[in-house]
Amino acid sequence: MSDSMDFSALRRGLEDPAAGGAMLKRIEELAATIERPVTLMEVCGTHTHSIAAAGLRRLMPSNVRLVSGPGCPVCVTPIGWVDRAMALAAREDVIVTTFGDMMRVPASHGTLEESRAEGADVRICYSTRDALQIARDNPEKKVVFLAVGFETTAPTIAAALEEAERENLPNFLVLAGHKTIPEALEALMDNNDVKLDGLLCPGHVSVIIGSDAYAPVATAGLPCSVVGFAPNDVLAGVAELLAQLANDKPAVSNLYGRVVQPDGNPAARALLDKFFVQTDSDWRGLGIIPRSGLELKVEFAHRNAALLEVDLPVAREPKGCRCGEVLQGTIDPPECPLFGNGCDPEHAVGACMVSSEGTCAAWHRHERLALSSPKS
Ligand code: SF4
Repeated sequence: MSDSMDFSALRRGLEDPAAGGAMLKRIEELAATIERPVTLMEVCGTHTHSIAAAGLRRLMPSNVRLVSGPGCPVCVTPIGWVDRAMALAAREDVIVTTFGDMMRVPASHGTLEESRAEGADVRICYSTRDALQIARDNPEKKVVFLAVGFETTAPTIAAALEEAERENLPNFLVLAGHKTIPEALEALMDNNDVKLDGLLCPGHVSVIIGSDAYAPVATAGLPCSVVGFAPNDVLAGVAELLAQLANDKPAVSNLYGRVVQPDGNPAARALLDKFFVQTDSDWRGLGIIPRSGLELKVEFAHRNAALLEVDLPVAREPKGCRCGEVLQGTIDPPECPLFGNGCDPEHAVGACMVSSEGTCAAWHRHERLALSSPKS
């Protein structure tokens, strides 16, 4: 790639209306040959927002449904884990550090934002470097970073742990809540409540795990397409999945080759392997999925905030919230009676409306007004 590459030209190409129109035509042709309802799931919050913002759902042929899956890391974090974060914040000797999207996620009793208003020391960080600096500046406190996310963010936590080990910074701890995508996809295939016909695989996660990571899913019969985030990227992915279905040849197709390699980023995965092991993990809406979480290795127990003593309440989901079904793709957000009727981004009832990557937030921001207008 030359230093003078014209990125604006590349961007225009991705958003080229003529190319988008041609892909829509191809999608219609392929859908017509399939002659049955087809459900395709995107498993990335950024895809969810790209699809909603561009109105792609409404452009699909009548037999093609796009549903959102468990692609928002904050949304799939179970309420018991948020309760633990709240309980840690209540300890006098703890400073809780977090990315901003966790602040308004409802726990069984309140939010971290409310805890902070009541005096708990909860600080928003823009990177793990901020949390490390807070630990250096407050040696008398335990500084706990809330580590939520998929394979995309987990390596940055591992890098922070490595820095803390190198510096012998004893008071930097992590509450590990990371989850891994391939195991969740395999669980979704076994879900009897929603029959999936194809997966738009997450672009960011695939940069780390590589497109080959989806081979078991494709081998089991589910077409997979790794795609980028521009509307035309998504349309190309839909066309690819329909072509695989039409030809009855499920496979992994990497349409995001400009950043995703078949084997991903081995250096980042090696860093993950140094600090974490795979463990069974609880996902909101999906329950316990074997080997779908990352926990700190025993030799790093001194950095494991889950081992600090706290009083936990009985976990209680927000009344009436149907985030669990939204995250499985069994309902679209407007099917929740609270959608726009007591639950909106300003007064969110559930995590899917709080997070900027949440499906309910995407529908509320981009698709709510279109719901009442006829499909064009
Ligand atoms: S609209 Fe609100 S209450 Fe309903 S599922 Fe979404 S986040 Fe939960």
